[in-house]
Amino acid sequence: MHELTVGAATAWLRGWAAAIGENEQHLTALDAAIGDADHGANLRRGAAAVIERWDAHPPTSVHEALTLAGEALVGTVGGASGPLFGTLLLRAAAEIGDRTTVDAATLAAALRAGTAGVRERGRVELGDKTMLDALVPAVDALDAALAGGQPLAEAMAAAAHAGRSARDATARMVARRGRASQLGDRSLGAIDPGSASAALLLDALAAALGA
Ligand code: ADP
Ligand code: MG
Ligand code: MG
Repeated sequence: MHELTVGAATAWLRGWAAAIGENEQHLTALDAAIGDADHGANLRRGAAAVIERWDAHPPTSVHEALTLAGEALVGTVGGASGPLFGTLLLRAAAEIGDRTTVDAATLAAALRAGTAGVRERGRVELGDKTMLDALVPAVDALDAALAGGQPLAEAMAAAAHAGRSARDATARMVARRGRASQLGDRSLGAIDPGSASAALLLDALAAALGA
């Protein structure tokens, strides 16, 4: 697919919801190691709220789909991750605005804006060992692939691949934000849970675009 349609946008987050369901125990185990063991449950609740919101109010545009989803995540998840992923989607929706066609360049700009939203709302920087450390390399890879002439689906697959590598690289970081920062050096060696759920979000987008 060369653009993000409303159908692809809903397939994206439905796919993410399914992946969270399949990986709930794993996400919780990652959070048990350096946090409070609720990441899987937090996101399961958030993803279910997104789908309930859409069922009650079927979105007719990408902007509406992402706005409803972002509001559901911000409003339902008690943990840090819900408001942050919610902010990502709300900022992406704002960047898209009332455009009826979300082409590759618009989607890349929307993901970059969403990532900036996480950075600002979380007051985090690269290397702090958070979801931002998976998102930024992925957005950079997306831009590079598009600049190199790759079609959107392939470029997004490259971005998702970069996100998975970056998720794994969080094991080499010491947490400086969020709950895990209380552990200091003892957070070394563990993958950040939010980087793992962010990698699932990127994978789901690549899949929804047909990669
Ligand atoms: P909580 O830490 O409140 O229990 P979750 O377990 O659902 O929330 O989410 C934890 C994840 O949220 C972390 O692994 C990290 O990726 C992300 N996170 C936490 N605090 C921040 C922050 N200030 N900025 C960006 N991401 C953060
Ligand atoms: Mg937690
Ligand atoms: Mg918690």
